[in-house]
Formats: sequence, structure tokens, C-alpha cells
Amino acid sequence: MLSDFSEKIQSLFKKFRGYGKLTEKEIGEICRDIRLLFLESDIALSATKKIVEEIKNRLSTLEFTTETSPGTLVSNIVREELINLLGKPGNIDFSEKPTLVMMVGIQGSGKTTTSAKIANYFATKENKKPLLVGADVRRPAAQLQLEKLSQQIKIPFFTDKDPFLACEGALNLARSKGYDLIIVDTAGRTHVDEELLDELKTLNERFQPKNNILVIDSMMGQEATKVAKAFFNTIPLTGAILTKFDGDARGGAAFSLREVTGVPLIFLGVGEKIQNLEKFDPVRVVNRIVG
Ligand code: GDP
Repeated sequence: MLSDFSEKIQSLFKKFRGYGKLTEKEIGEICRDIRLLFLESDIALSATKKIVEEIKNRLSTLEFTTETSPGTLVSNIVREELINLLGKPGNIDFSEKPTLVMMVGIQGSGKTTTSAKIANYFATKENKKPLLVGADVRRPAAQLQLEKLSQQIKIPFFTDKDPFLACEGALNLARSKGYDLIIVDTAGRTHVDEELLDELKTLNERFQPKNNILVIDSMMGQEATKVAKAFFNTIPLTGAILTKFDGDARGGAAFSLREVTGVPLIFLGVGEKIQNLEKFDPVRVVNRIVG
């Protein structure tokens, strides 16, 4: 069965003779539809412009023969360009032992749940020894949530009265106990604010983590660009995780994030359960948009 997008593209070619080059008018019509689809999928305007421009260039040199279906050819080009923008999946850097993984993002994005998911992932799939650290000390509920999750997955949990002491203590503990990775659930706010960014900046300068991972909610839509920019301008991000990918959102946030930060996506959160974490797969994200 064809997706809405493939059908739309195929129907654009109904009038087309099926061979030779597309006229400028035809290219314009196709690009208008593609642009609309991207914007409807919540891909940020700047990212949309960039991909549509690439597609336009490719369409202007494309020559159809009678053997190929123009609709399929164009759909494939769109797919390829989207996959290109998403890039290859990233990784957690384990070059230091223990390696520090700083989880950043705004409140509600799924940062705490994802911290536990990652700990569980590396413990069960890669036989690593993680330590979970609660650094959102101003929100007791957040601390408690992470502690509960850590008990559920049988991963040690550590905290202290401020985020700096928590990180310092965790590093000492990890060195003495031979932990491989320290996952720090940093403070989140309902929106990006200066105080939050200042705290992250100082934490970063003090501990120079090998991994600064931005957690982004895929339902965030166009807002993802603003959030990604704020974090990207504050600390050197090394990767990103897109959560709630099991929901209705089409995943445009992934493209906005990539376009703004250039950092690779590492995982996708695909449900509320601890096990609902998957390695990022660009094809899967693109399928959401072009079917
Ligand atoms: P935080 O404020 O960023 O730490 O966010 P939480 O980890 O508390 O998550 C906020 C809500 O999103 C909770 O109800 C989580 O269960 C839920 N959540 C987190 N990740 C996912 C996901 O991948 N899929 C779904 N469906 N829900 C998620």
C-alpha cells in the first residue's frame, strides 16, 4: 500500500509524459508539495528549505526513461535526502573509565526515564557497570523517581546536596568500585532558562564530560529548534536522544535537531517501559514521514 506521500507524488506525474526532463514548472509543483509535507511533519523551516533545495537540484538534472516510474524515482530522492540529513547513528564515548554521561533537556522530555533506560541498556546488552546520579536536587520528586527506577533495574544510585558534590562523589565512587559509566540526570525546567544553562555550563567546565546528551521529545514539534539551539550554544553536545517516538508525532524534531546542532542521534525512546529504548535508525524515522 502506498503512503499518502507516495500517492501524492505519483498523482503529480499523471500528466507527465513519463520520459525526458521535468520542466521548471513541474519541479516547482513537486517541490511545493514536498515542502508542505515537511512542514506538516514539523520539520523546522530552515531544515525544510535546505532539503528542498537539494531535492530541487537533483530533480533539475534527472532524466526519466520510459522504464522507470517517475513517482518512485522522486520518492526515492526525497527519502535519500532525508536519510542524509539525519546522518549515521552516534555512540556513547567509552574512551575514559569511568565515562561521564551528562543527560540534559527540559522537564517532561523524558530525561529521567531515559537515564534509567540507558543504564539498563548498557548493563544488560553490553555488560557494563553503570552508576545513576540524581543531580536535579531542587526537585525531590525527580530524585525519587530516578532512585525508584534504579532500584527497579538494580543499578546503584548516588546523589548529594548539590549537583557538583553529586558528580564529584559519583566519580570517586565509580573509580573505587570500577563502574564503567556515570549517567547524570541533570536539572530540568519547564522551559529553557538562564539559571539552568549557567548550572550546566559550570558543571561542564568543572567535569568536562565525554558525553553531553540532549534529550528531545518528538512531540515537541517546531519548539525543538529553540530548545536545541539553547543547549547547543551552552555546552558541547555530543549526541541526542529522541523520546516518545511511539506517539503520533511524525518525528520532524529529529531533523530540526540535526540541522541546528549537527550532533548524531544515538537512541530512540519508544515507550514508557525501561526496555523501550532502541538504537537510532534513520530509515525508521524517515519512514514516518514518507511512508
Ligand atoms: P523528565 O522531566 O525530562 O525527567 O521526564 P520523565 O522521565 O519524568 O518523563 C516524562 C513522561 O514521559 C513520563 O510519564 C514518562 O513515562 C514519559 N516518557 C519518557 N520517555 C517516553 C517514551 O519514549 N515514550 C513514551 N510514550 N513516554 C515516555
